[in-house]
Amino acid sequence: MLILPVYFDNNATTPVDPRVLAAMMPYFTEAFGNAASRHHSFGWAAAEAVSFAREQVAALIGADPSEIIFTSGATESDNLAIKGVFDMYAGKGNHIITCATEHKAVLDTCAHLQKQGAEVTYLPVNSRGLIDPAALDAAIRPATVLIAIMYANNETGTIMPVREIGAIAKKHGVPFFSDATQAVGKIPVDVLADGVDLLAFSAHKMYGPKGVGALYVRRRNPRIRLTPQMDGGGHERGMRSGTLNVPGIAGLGRAAAICQTEMEAESRRLSTLRDKLETGLLALGRVYVNGNPDYRLPHVTNLSFGRTDGQLLLSGFNKNIAVSSGSACTSALPEPSYVLKAMGLDDELAYASFRFSLGRFTTEEQVDYCLQSVKETVIKLRSSDLFV
Ligand SMILES: *Cc1c(COP(=O)(O)O)cnc(C)c1O
Repeated sequence: MLILPVYFDNNATTPVDPRVLAAMMPYFTEAFGNAASRHHSFGWAAAEAVSFAREQVAALIGADPSEIIFTSGATESDNLAIKGVFDMYAGKGNHIITCATEHKAVLDTCAHLQKQGAEVTYLPVNSRGLIDPAALDAAIRPATVLIAIMYANNETGTIMPVREIGAIAKKHGVPFFSDATQAVGKIPVDVLADGVDLLAFSAHKMYGPKGVGALYVRRRNPRIRLTPQMDGGGHERGMRSGTLNVPGIAGLGRAAAICQTEMEAESRRLSTLRDKLETGLLALGRVYVNGNPDYRLPHVTNLSFGRTDGQLLLSGFNKNIAVSSGSACTSALPEPSYVLKAMGLDDELAYASFRFSLGRFTTEEQVDYCLQSVKETVIKLRSSDLFV
């Protein structure tokens, strides 16, 4: 039976998988120890759970367990990577290269560093949301200390040419950081093959709990060093002090292991469902896909609906369908998405854009319901004389 509302906003957050919750439970109660307690079995049990999770997380991205730093989520990982590298390499230079469509956790961190003397290049994207690797190559200067380009975009699902970026970074000897929050657990990510030196991700985007994430920091070839942004007891090899969130970390580990096992089949299932939804909506006419249709995350479609009004459309179906809209109501007035604007969309189409992000618990019945009710709303709006 279909239960309303249906959830099509898995890029905003995912539910915790019951198997993940089960892996976390013991560490709240009987195995509640502090992983830094060295002198008793309570501490040892917690440390063992953390060490097991570190292996599970490292395995998912092809890293060594010693290269994983646990954090409170991707926002913290983004801050630690960018500020940590900028501080550490201050003697070399002050130039950072990033991209116009990054998540706010990257853009706001760069803006913060600009106030402290950083020079930041924001690479543009094309209509599919991709940067031009040649433009990246040309933007690198002797003072460049970091390239920060996301793996896959949260609004459109566009996957960046990560391996090309990694190769360019390596050629110039510049560390390459990628916010891979939307990619890890969904598509194969391999820090060695991809040539990524630092990689951020978060448990709650991959069926783990909120408030825990990780930063991969390469240890050899080259060894990347970071200035810690949190001082204290020297946890996580001194790079991130603070008592470890043991249940959260155990959950992130289990979430990573499940994603790794199920990725191939799940990505096929989701892209089939996504394509069904997308094809059905495109059949309405004057509906446009935002992002790179040839190479996208399997579970995401971002669509602009021409000849409608975004607000009216949303209020037509948002009681029953949870989606994300192309306008962000961060202020009193809705602002069109800066990601879609950077891809060249005009305001009107950006306002009438929606991101449908499917997930592990999305069923075909839910997709059919979503398709039907969005279709009906669009047809009804278009037939009113407002949008002739
Ligand atoms: C969700 C998200 C973040 C923020 O992650 P938190 O764990 O919620 O801090 C950062 N970057 C991208 C691309 C995201 O999708």
